Amino acid sequence: MSEKNHNNNTSEIGWNLQHTYATLPEALFRKVDPEIPIKPEIVFFNNHLSERLGLKFSEVSEQEIADFFSGKILPPGSVPIAQAYAGHQFGHFTMLGDGRAILFGEQLTPDGTLIDLVWKGSGRTPFSRSGDGLGTLSAMTREFLISKAMFGLGIPTTESLAVVKTGKKVYREKIHEGAVLTRTALSHIRVGTFEFVSYYTDKATLMKFTDYCIQRHYPESLGDQNSVLSFYKKVIQKQLDLILHWMRVGFIHGVMNTDNMSIAGETIDYGPCAFMNEYSPDTVFSSIDSQGRYAFGNQPRIGHWNLACLGSALLPILSDNEEEAKEMISEALNEYIKGFEREWPLVLFKKIGISNPEEKNKILLDRLLKWMNETRADYTNTFLKIMGYDVPDHEKYDTPGFQDWIRERKIVLEELGITQEASMQLMQKMNPVIIPRNHLVEKALDGVVGGDVSFAQELLQRLDYPYRHDDVDFKFMESDDRDYKTYCGT
Ligand code: AMP
Ligand code: MG
Repeated sequence: MSEKNHNNNTSEIGWNLQHTYATLPEALFRKVDPEIPIKPEIVFFNNHLSERLGLKFSEVSEQEIADFFSGKILPPGSVPIAQAYAGHQFGHFTMLGDGRAILFGEQLTPDGTLIDLVWKGSGRTPFSRSGDGLGTLSAMTREFLISKAMFGLGIPTTESLAVVKTGKKVYREKIHEGAVLTRTALSHIRVGTFEFVSYYTDKATLMKFTDYCIQRHYPESLGDQNSVLSFYKKVIQKQLDLILHWMRVGFIHGVMNTDNMSIAGETIDYGPCAFMNEYSPDTVFSSIDSQGRYAFGNQPRIGHWNLACLGSALLPILSDNEEEAKEMISEALNEYIKGFEREWPLVLFKKIGISNPEEKNKILLDRLLKWMNETRADYTNTFLKIMGYDVPDHEKYDTPGFQDWIRERKIVLEELGITQEASMQLMQKMNPVIIPRNHLVEKALDGVVGGDVSFAQELLQRLDYPYRHDDVDFKFMESDDRDYKTYCGT
């Protein structure tokens, strides 16, 4: 990239780009230039995120913002690279890498955190294989919307700073408008990055890379006797917490390949993800997941599978004794299983307003899930109904199946000495009144693609406060996702 593309009149913006990843061994990345967009035009911009990053664009024209976040102008200090990684896709190991994403720097924020800044959809890289490296306006907007919803829900996630139309055509099953999404993350280091480093480089590089990850994400592990084991256990705990959050709100990631699992524990790679409306553990929306590998209820098991892959990648540096290393991995993974079995019922108990359950109360959870599954009740709305709210589809709840359950719950609450007030407070924190339902997302995307962002803006605003229980609107609560399908990399 020539110097003339660097904008020098930007000191007031607050760019503070580091590039620690580009100091790692060369095998881990390739330097790359973004494609120059034809006519960058800003569609969405996340002001709150920009502020947290310490970036101020108030003195900058919209055109310049669009230029920065489409790859037309390189922010000062940028070193654009594509990261190398591998991964297990639907169980099969393969070499991957950033085929349509470019890391252009790590912003050192005012609170001292390094945050990756990535253009997604800014053209081909050495890892693009047969792909064009581009993104469609629709897919980039979808990621902007759903990642913002996840942030609002209080769930660790990569975030989206901007969506900028490029003026280019993108060819998929039909012709789309092209767009670049600027994504931020604690880092883009994946389980698949470890698989790449472990299987395609040497042990010294693996150790160096692991040290980098520990310093960046889990510095408290540095003091531990076996810092690699400590790191592994922390990654496992973060994933467990994340998957519990997903399941609390009915989120289905859709493509939990090992390259789509972040070491820092953030939700990453919003491709075929979607929120479940009608409850069934078998719910799958992704058009390519015919076996249901990544179904709603299978996510904890797949998390375990992926973390086992991480264990295998770390094996050479966990211990010089291979048997001992295997033992460490197996113990750590057992903790994950036990952790899920312990924590998931507690999450569900909190969703029904019980913070101090007894073992025997689990029958209450089993009955509720069974009833929801049999009646295909809406997952989000059912918990709101338990809170006493008016929700759509009320006939479903005026049945003995549900009303008997409500009476049983009341008895349990009394037995446990839980007040109505305490249970309501807990449920308000656990149960969102709005999620980005599939039909809402589709309506927003149709608008944006047709040139009208108004519904998308309204939805984005409302999704900022999903726990505002004084604003329950039927408009956002209709359950409908029969036959809904999502697609990868559209
Ligand atoms: P994903 O399904 O987004 O996790 O992507 C899997 C792999 O395919 C990654 O290596 C991506 O970089 C690559 N990929 C996805 N879409 C494209 C595209 N349009 N052009 C090039 N590579 C792509
Ligand atoms: Mg991916």
